[in-house]
Amino acid sequence: MSHNDCIFCKILDGEIPSAKVYEDEFVYAFLDISQVTKGHTLVIPKTHTKNIYETPPEVARELFARVPKIASGIKDVYKPIGMNLLNNNEEPADQSVFHLHIHVIPRYGDGDGYSSNWTVHTDNYSSEDLQQMAKEIKDTIES
Ligand code: 5GP
Ligand code: ZN
Repeated sequence: MSHNDCIFCKILDGEIPSAKVYEDEFVYAFLDISQVTKGHTLVIPKTHTKNIYETPPEVARELFARVPKIASGIKDVYKPIGMNLLNNNEEPADQSVFHLHIHVIPRYGDGDGYSSNWTVHTDNYSSEDLQQMAKEIKDTIES
């Protein structure tokens, strides 16, 4: 199902040109126009789904099932020294196109164009805190 005003649905429909990396019945992969690092690729489901929250399990399954092959292809051709997978959900988390996508970002070393910033807060949480938090999440998932 194609959505009006969705850039990625327009790419799927061929209305907007793209540099295709892979395609099958369920999935389309193409070079991200921003090329944060060389070979930066987006993998999207052919079914429009806004983001991870709205994604049915079968769409997630088919989508992620293709990622190892695509990542390995990029690795074989450009010989990156690492690879990051990234999925942004909602604007505060940097989602700018509201059609689910996985970024495949090959890494070439410091200053290659991609960086992420992790602040470790291990000292702020006891093991009891972690158990309690895990229970809250688990109970919600299971309810
Ligand atoms: P987000 O910020 O939602 O995680 O990622 C959206 C990505 O889509 C961005 O990295 C952006 O460069 C890419 N993008 C947006 N419009 C186009 C387009 O028309 N063609 C291609 N190939 N990539 C696009
Ligand atoms: Zn779409």
